[in-house]
Amino acid sequence: MVELKTDTSIDAMYTAGQIVGQALTAVRKAADVGVSLLELDEVAREVLRGAGATSPFLGYRPSFAPVPFPAVICTSVNDAIVHGIPTRYRLRDGDLVSIDCGAELDGWVGDSAISFIVGKPRPADLRLIETAERALAAGIEAAVVGNRIGDIAHAIGTVCRAAGYGIPQGFGGHGIGRRMHEDPSIPNEGRPGRGLPLRHGMAIAIEPMLLAGGKDAYHAAPDGWTLKTNDGSRAAHAEHTVAITETGPRILTER
Ligand code: MG
Ligand code: MG
Repeated sequence: MVELKTDTSIDAMYTAGQIVGQALTAVRKAADVGVSLLELDEVAREVLRGAGATSPFLGYRPSFAPVPFPAVICTSVNDAIVHGIPTRYRLRDGDLVSIDCGAELDGWVGDSAISFIVGKPRPADLRLIETAERALAAGIEAAVVGNRIGDIAHAIGTVCRAAGYGIPQGFGGHGIGRRMHEDPSIPNEGRPGRGLPLRHGMAIAIEPMLLAGGKDAYHAAPDGWTLKTNDGSRAAHAEHTVAITETGPRILTER
């Protein structure tokens, strides 16, 4: 069931979303060659703590997960696509890092992700990240009253495929509100004009995931959480929480 949010609720989600944006900005600033993923998690924890927010990631345990998620951010490096668990791994020159973060404040949740390079970037990685951001922007642009979910999915998928990248099937965006994952799901590829009509008050997380090798195949790492590309190619992830309103899409996790 898709829950429509009141304008007041969307304002409250915006407040939670700002904390996510601040945490991501702080993590990105702290990320450098030699910094560990656990240290980045600590940076995000500090921001959440300082804002009086809690983490919807910490302790989260969906049915596929062998253990509850132990951190407040996902850190997915190089061939990791999403859901990477922060470890003692220290970032190296040229690493492609995706950070996913959530925050809950006054019962409302925000969810957002960024990808960036640490140290000296390779042109191919910059193109991958730029395309993920462009796919996200296209998805957001399609998130308007009168469109359908398939229009968002089609907009995202078209940008990814035109650039020659793979899309991991079965993972994508989702409704969001009092819980991090609500109905409906927002696929990263689909047919225009299909699916649920978009209405004022819907809140969704839009999150393209792009695989540089052009193949869609992925697998779970031995930790049971991290999704990795099968061909070892790099992946990028970008995400915003967005409210669909009569006056257009409103990004709730803007930075
Ligand atoms: Mg996320
Ligand atoms: Mg999400």
